[in-house]
Amino acid sequence: MKQQTNIILPGATIGILGGGQLGRMTAMAARSLGYRSQVLDPDPSCPARWVVDACFSASLDDARAAADLARGSDVVTIEIEKVSLDSMRAAAKHAPVRPDADVLEIIQHRATQKDWLSKHNFPVGDYRVVKSAMELDRAARELNAECYVKAAQGGYDGRGQAVLHSPTDAHKAWLYLGAEVCVAEKALDIEYEISVLVARSPSGQTAVYPPALNHHTNRILDWSVIPAPIPPALEHEASRLADSIARDINIIGLLAVEMFVLKDGKLLVNELAPRPHNSYHASERACATSQFENCVRAVCNLPLGTPEVLKPAAIVNLLGDLWLKHPHPSFNEALSVPGLRLHLYDKQQPKAGRKMGHLSAVGATPQEAVERVKQAKEILERGLGIRD
Ligand code: ADP
Ligand code: MG
Repeated sequence: MKQQTNIILPGATIGILGGGQLGRMTAMAARSLGYRSQVLDPDPSCPARWVVDACFSASLDDARAAADLARGSDVVTIEIEKVSLDSMRAAAKHAPVRPDADVLEIIQHRATQKDWLSKHNFPVGDYRVVKSAMELDRAARELNAECYVKAAQGGYDGRGQAVLHSPTDAHKAWLYLGAEVCVAEKALDIEYEISVLVARSPSGQTAVYPPALNHHTNRILDWSVIPAPIPPALEHEASRLADSIARDINIIGLLAVEMFVLKDGKLLVNELAPRPHNSYHASERACATSQFENCVRAVCNLPLGTPEVLKPAAIVNLLGDLWLKHPHPSFNEALSVPGLRLHLYDKQQPKAGRKMGHLSAVGATPQEAVERVKQAKEILERGLGIRD
């Protein structure tokens, strides 16, 4: 029997659309709070599969499967943007879906998202929405700089993107991306990247996390630290921006706002994610309440936990490249670094650029936490330790 009140208490079942590492870690937090969980994912051995009560193997576009998941759930959430709106709406007939299809519709399409941000007067870099090689060529000339060209749908971790050094490459880039719609963005002079996570519950309560500082390598997040060691005025401005976006878009659940701090000090919004975010994995170590716990608390309409930092913490991602080099990484050596913890996602197949897990560490300062995770990763990359 589904609960009739708006508050979904422990003991209830949370359905998650998507069963990747974000779904897995959300399910682990849900379990810890006494909830049951089930996921829908096309991969029968997806990371969440090993920690949930049930796993539905179907495409995220399969509206009937989404309805089946929702029928047995008290609330449904998402861990990935690539869920079809039909699936979201089919699920909503059987259980509250948080965040809802209207929010996802804006965010899952890069062009719609950028237009929404600029229409609502949030600061974004110069961009053009393009629908052909010719339009891309024109956009590159108008932007008059190197451009990042991003497929409007389906890209992640830098995939579905091309960097255009000159308008003469427009045709080649267009063919390479093979998308119907792309966003061409002026390449920005970035000093560093930060993100701000906001949790928001149906009763309107919000918890705004302190900014994370994020370092990317080849357009994939490499390491991240909370709190970002940045000037208080910038921290304040970034938090205010993220909070306003979460309220204006009316999200229930989590919203991660990726931002660029430019060399001239300007703060711009890069992109939004309506779900747990890689740059807040360190919240499990740094904050009084992790992003995963607050995801559960928000979608269940429980009071949100405080996001305050108790101790600085950092993470470094472990990509499949490590396993391709060392099939049995020497975790025994890495774990001897003080403050270190290991998080693996149970992914069966290592691939270059695929996120397989991460290392986290606390430290007396953000710098120390970053040094610790980097040191541990270096140990793994050197391949020391017990070998078989
Ligand atoms: P994804 O969805 O793959 O995370 P992003 O739009 O966040 O896509 O781009 C990935 C990374 O590429 C960013 O974090 C940033 O390092 C770099 N990047 C993206 N857009 C720009 C830009 N306009 N100028 C400079 N660097 C960019
Ligand atoms: Mg990004």
